[in-house]
Formats: sequence, C-alpha cells, structure tokens
Amino acid sequence: MNLRTALKTPLRQGVSLSQYSTMQVGGPSRYFASPETEEELFELLDFARREKMPWLVIGKGSNMIFPDEGYAGLVISFLHYEQNKICFDLKEDSVTAGAGIFLYRLVLAARDQGLGGIEFLCNVPGTVGGAVIMNAGFSRFPGQVNEAGDVLAEVEVLGEDGKKERWFKKDLVFSYRQSNLNGKIVLAAKFQLWKRRRKDIEREIRANFDFRNSKQDLRFPSSGSIFKNPPKPLPAAGQLIDRLGLKGKRVGGAVVSEKHANYIINAGGAKSSDIVELIRRIQKLVLDATEVSLETEVRIIEKN
Ligand SMILES: Cc1cc2nc3c(=O)[nH]c(=O)nc-3n(C[C@H](O)[C@H](O)[C@H](O)COP(=O)(O)OP(=O)(O)OC[C@H]3O[C@@H](n4cnc5c(N)ncnc54)[C@H](O)[C@@H]3O)c2cc1C
Repeated sequence: MNLRTALKTPLRQGVSLSQYSTMQVGGPSRYFASPETEEELFELLDFARREKMPWLVIGKGSNMIFPDEGYAGLVISFLHYEQNKICFDLKEDSVTAGAGIFLYRLVLAARDQGLGGIEFLCNVPGTVGGAVIMNAGFSRFPGQVNEAGDVLAEVEVLGEDGKKERWFKKDLVFSYRQSNLNGKIVLAAKFQLWKRRRKDIEREIRANFDFRNSKQDLRFPSSGSIFKNPPKPLPAAGQLIDRLGLKGKRVGGAVVSEKHANYIINAGGAKSSDIVELIRRIQKLVLDATEVSLETEVRIIEKN
C-alpha cells in the first residue's frame, strides 16, 4: 500500500513556507499537511517515521525564519488542529485549549466567560502551542514580566517515543522565551485564569494594543523582536542596536525597522538569506562595540 495516498490528511507537495511565516520568507516544503485531529496528527508522524523523513511542527510561524531552499521533509501546521477545543472549567476558573488555537481567540473566549489573566497574550500573534514552547510574554509596564509559563497549569504533549504525557506545573520549567518542552509536540494546554469584570478585561486588552501600536512596527511583515534582551542591567537589544545607528540598515529586502530597532522587517522581496545576513552583521557590530553577544529570539530553521 502507498503510505502517502492512504493518509487521511491531504499531503501537499512544494508548498511555499513563506505563506506560513509572518516574515513571509522561505522556500518550498517537500511535504506539507494541516491535521485537524489527534488521529490525523499521529498518522502523519507515523508516516514520517516510516519514511525516515525529518518533520517540523509549526504554529502561526510568527517566530520562525524558514530557509530559501525550503524544507526537505514534512511540515506539520497546527493552524487547523482541533479548532473547537476551548474547554472552560468554571468551578476552577481554568481553560484547556488545543495547541492550534490562536491566542487572541482564547483571550476573547475567556473574556466572554468573565475570566481574565491572559490578556497579555492577546498581543502575541501566535498559537497556544507556539506560546507554550516559546514561553511567550508581553508587558507594557517596564520591569514587569508576564509570560505564558506564569499562567499554565498543565500541558499535554506527545513525547519523542510517541506517547502522550501530561506535564503539570511542578514539571514545567520556563525561562526567558524558553521551556523545557523542546522536542515535544504540544497538543493542548490548560491555563489558570481568574474572575474579572468584562469591562476591565477589555480595558486591559485595549491598553495593551495601544501600547503595542505605539512601539512596534506593524506596517511590514516581521517576526516581532529578533533578539532576546540581554540580562539586566544591560540595555535592551533594541537600545544597543539603536545606539550604533543601525536603524534603516539593509541587506536586500531585509531592513532594521526605523520604529523599533529590535525588529527586522521584510520591506519587500526579502530573502531568508538577507534576514540571516542582517542578523549576523548586527550581532558582530554589537559584539565589537559593546562586548554583548546578542542571542536570537526568532528560530532560524537551517537548510536540511
Ligand atoms: C508582530 C509580532 C509581534 C510579536 N510580539 C511578541 C510578544 O510580544 N511576545 C512574544 O513572546 N513573542 C512575540 N512575537 C513572536 C511570536 O508571536 C511568539 O514567539 C509566538 O509564541 C509564536 O507562536 P507561533 O504559533 O507563531 O509559533 P511558531 O513561530 O510557528 O513556532 C515557534 C516555535 O514553536 C514550535 N511550535 C509551534 N507549535 C508547536 C506545537 N504545537 N508543539 C511543539 N512545538 C511547536 C515551533 O516548532 C517553533 O520552534 C511577535 C511576533 C510578531 C510577528
């Protein structure tokens, strides 16, 4: 039997990954699939294992730079995965959401139940799975840290041996844009919320959006902040880049944003190699001038 044609999920070939990255760069993937159910997901992983093919899981691609050469394996998108899975437990004020649910949708669903605590995630343009893996965070107040890990009660993952596991708060270790779940596939996550008045939730969401619009460059495709901020008391990555006069620095279509120096924007026709080259140049200039080694927050997928 042909394994590929027997799959329940259509396997597309040569899909341009640029459509699946907010930076809008990346070449074709050998195979691309968007499973809708756990069964379909497991079947795809089994297919990749049997074909000895590399695979890659993606959410909204808002933190990923795919290579121009594309991906010589199976890309599994979570954009259609369990889109109805937003389950509230109103006794314990929690919500369990499938990994493919968009964060803003989850925040608004919680608002409709009179539950808050995750308003800060409304600004992160990704999925639940991506937010868990990345320990996504946002705050409009200097010095305050709000991260996904703070509000996660439980995560359901698929381990490397293909078995489902439940990780509870005590098992989860989060740090700045990192979790100890790398290498696992996030299937669902349970968030601990708290009762909050709808109008307060809405005010919070609005204030966060206003702050974001004033600070971030949302006019062009990007991946948000490119570099992690160095530990305090060092200046933020954007400040280090700005002080060296690098705003507007360009490689091909990749440009350091004039509005936010930690953003690289795709100003039109950027290639993945332009972005990576610009990242390397910034890192070298900052290192030479300040001895600070900037680490990327964005995940650069290597040619395979
Ligand atoms: C305009 C803009 C603003 C941004 N602002 C913020 C911000 O304020 N704070 C912040 O933290 N980030 C921000 N980001 C970055 C990004 O949105 C976050 O990192 C987000 O959590 C990524 O989610 P995603 O679904 O897009 O994940 P992707 O980018 O698709 O993937 C990110 C990583 O997670 C893995 N992954 C995705 N889904 C799963 C899954 N189900 N199981 C296992 N692994 C998975 C991928 O393999 C990859 O390693 C911003 C990005 C943009 C474009």
